[in-house]
Amino acid sequence: MKKNKKVLVLGSNFAGLTVSRYLHKHLKSAADITVIDRKNYISFIPNIPIEVFNNNNPADHLEFPFLKHYHSDGTAFIQGEVSDIDPVNREVQYIPNERPGAAPEKISYDYLVIALGNKLAYDDIEGFAEYGHTFSDTFYGNKVREFLFDEYKGGPIAIGSDLFKQGKSPKTPKLIPNAEAACEGPPVELAFSLLDWLTEHEKGDAKTITLFTPGKIMAEDAGETILHKLLPMLSDMGFGYVNDTKGIKRLTKEGIEFKDGRSLEAELKIIFPNWEPHSFMKGQPFADDQGFVITDMHMRNPDFPEIFAVGDAAAVTVPKLGSLGHMECEVASKVLSNEILGITEEVAPVSPAIVCFGDMGSHKGFYMYTDEWYGGDTHILRMGYTPYMLKMGFKTMYQTLGGNVPGWGMPMAEFINDHSGI
Ligand SMILES: Cc1cc2nc3c(=O)[nH]c(=O)nc-3n(C[C@H](O)[C@H](O)[C@H](O)COP(=O)(O)OP(=O)(O)OC[C@H]3O[C@@H](n4cnc5c(N)ncnc54)[C@H](O)[C@@H]3O)c2cc1C
Repeated sequence: MKKNKKVLVLGSNFAGLTVSRYLHKHLKSAADITVIDRKNYISFIPNIPIEVFNNNNPADHLEFPFLKHYHSDGTAFIQGEVSDIDPVNREVQYIPNERPGAAPEKISYDYLVIALGNKLAYDDIEGFAEYGHTFSDTFYGNKVREFLFDEYKGGPIAIGSDLFKQGKSPKTPKLIPNAEAACEGPPVELAFSLLDWLTEHEKGDAKTITLFTPGKIMAEDAGETILHKLLPMLSDMGFGYVNDTKGIKRLTKEGIEFKDGRSLEAELKIIFPNWEPHSFMKGQPFADDQGFVITDMHMRNPDFPEIFAVGDAAAVTVPKLGSLGHMECEVASKVLSNEILGITEEVAPVSPAIVCFGDMGSHKGFYMYTDEWYGGDTHILRMGYTPYMLKMGFKTMYQTLGGNVPGWGMPMAEFINDHSGI
């Protein structure tokens, strides 16, 4: 009897859950799919700020169990810590993490999909633990919530990113530009939503907040047309702006010192760090000089064609944005399952675009859809109630369907946004 191909997916947050569900949708019982993650729920990261500003612990509302979806698909799930990948012998080493002390195990694969995201390098920023805050997971979300509601006195606020060390490789597709910050949608979104919170709690106004960036220009990936609207708008509203900081030197109680010698006074310092590949990814023959997985725009590694990567772990995912990962999951799952099923139909490569739904507070949001940074000519920016409604709707749809977002989900959201708002 012919044996099924073994497809191993590493990681089960946005990219890992979505690609696993799509793989099952295409392959049904034609392959044995196994997923490994250190936790058995998904953290719905983009909505953490909304929960924080509503004084909710984000862990209570944004950690969605996914096991029932894998059970109904027949996908196997292993809860463990991935500790190494051996691409030559097609094996992954992991440590079961239910109880401490487990011995390392090995699992082999015919196809590997890497969706492990990255390490968020707060530990590289001196003073972060004592003086820094952020919104990138539920722990830090709850910490900043407690600070805002219990301690914050209305002093200056700084929001921005450390320098992103993007990987380099001659094999990475040329259309991927160089970014100096890993993802600047969240700082811009927070400027709007925190201003709304400050106003509601009578703690300050836009002048209270200064945005900073390590790059020449903030949110460069939004493309020139949108930036020509967005940056003057932020300035007219009264936000402070510091660019070209070269990165963060250290945080102190008083504020932030930058690598270029300047500093900012801040009672609240909201930081987005360098997105850095996990230690076991560094030096891998399928990774670039930082450890991001090299792929073509079909999300396949050129030297190890049985290895795919999706989401933040992939070198082509710049900026580190979930919606880019989503597009990659659609393409990678189709390419991989076509190959297993012997289907020769051509799959269109990922055509990268920034698709972003941001919260602005008071049930309003912004929607951005642009591919200008990658050489395209689409540049849509809308603000109003609809983007907020769609951001919340996407969360519910993602949770209910366990990441198995229907093919019409994103196009419909884009269509509604493109034709609404101000
Ligand atoms: C505040 C904030 C707001 C954001 N808002 C948006 C937004 O509005 N829209 C948008 O598109 N994007 C947004 N993003 C970006 C988005 O959250 C990321 O791009 C997305 O989470 C990446 O998904 P991923 O699955 O590739 O990686 P991750 O979400 O990082 O998931 C990686 C998974 O791998 C697992 N893992 C990691 N290492 C190991 C290991 N060694 N062993 C076992 N398991 C492991 C983790 O447990 C996790 O489940 C935002 C990010 C932040 C920080």
